Amino acid sequence: MRRLLLGGLVSALLAGCHGRTVSSGGQDHPLLPKPLRAIALGFHHLGIVTGTYVRRDEADDHVTLDRDVALAGLSAAGNADSVTWLGHSTALIRLKGMSILTDPVLADGIVLGAPLPHRHVEPPIGLADLPKIDVVLISHGDYDHLHLPSLKALVKRFPKARLIVPDGLQPFGEKAGFARVDHPREGGVVIAGATRITALPAVHATRRNFLAIPDGKANSWDIRAGTRSVLFVGDSAYGSVFRDIGRSRGPFDLALVPIGAFEPATLVSDMHSCPEDAARILDDVRAGLGIGIHWGTFALSPEPLLEPADRFLSASAGHGRARVVRIGETMILARGGTAGRP
Ligand SMILES: [Zn+2]
Ligand SMILES: [Zn+2]
Repeated sequence: MRRLLLGGLVSALLAGCHGRTVSSGGQDHPLLPKPLRAIALGFHHLGIVTGTYVRRDEADDHVTLDRDVALAGLSAAGNADSVTWLGHSTALIRLKGMSILTDPVLADGIVLGAPLPHRHVEPPIGLADLPKIDVVLISHGDYDHLHLPSLKALVKRFPKARLIVPDGLQPFGEKAGFARVDHPREGGVVIAGATRITALPAVHATRRNFLAIPDGKANSWDIRAGTRSVLFVGDSAYGSVFRDIGRSRGPFDLALVPIGAFEPATLVSDMHSCPEDAARILDDVRAGLGIGIHWGTFALSPEPLLEPADRFLSASAGHGRARVVRIGETMILARGGTAGRP
């Protein structure tokens, strides 16, 4: 009933006139004009907080791995270059013996001062299962990406871990207790052990407030070790920045790209890429392999649970570089951008 009521309210607002149009991924996404959009965003966020978009009944074996299988895959990868998807934008990237954890959100539910969306599914791999983490890398400050309780728990378990955040978000790292917090500006480079991590643009911003008013930066990150290159895009709409990244820094062996939370398009298409946008990002950055993230985990939007994955794969059909993995799944990175399961 609550879902119907809120859904009806948002739909009624969305039925209004359109403002500017966002062109991306070969599609046009008309956005609601302000201030109608601000009101609709308020209802949309109310829907997120109250669990309106939870779709646990749609979760199946395509979404998560069993815990035993996930842990066996993680351990079988050994010291090989690999990536393990831990749900949403949390990924464990292992390159040349370094472990980099992106946008760690390891907890569930509403924590005072750090509200999280409700989960569709529980992650099979938790904090206690992680290998030693060298670098924690944050794309931006939205609550589903920068989660202070998770950062505090991580620094307690891995006191030597370094935190890298977009410029301006460093107070969160200091608050969490990290001894070393790097916050490069766009184009800035951080050397961490064998890795070289460069701050790149994203078509997104940090919005740690109910009305989604931008109050901080967002980055994509170029992560390199030896000849291996990985692009991590936490949240982004489509934009010409990806063509520029592809021209100046591509090709990438692996790109992690967001494919979910693209509905209601009239509210969020200037912040989030739809699956077709994500497929175009893979083309633009010349990714050998692209894994879709930012789906299947948190109840952030009304699209059906498996739709991001299905649409991402069909939008990428033909060149075979797009992959969808299950939460907890590890892929070993081979030379030339191919990957296999351990
Ligand atoms: Zn975001
Ligand atoms: Zn997000």
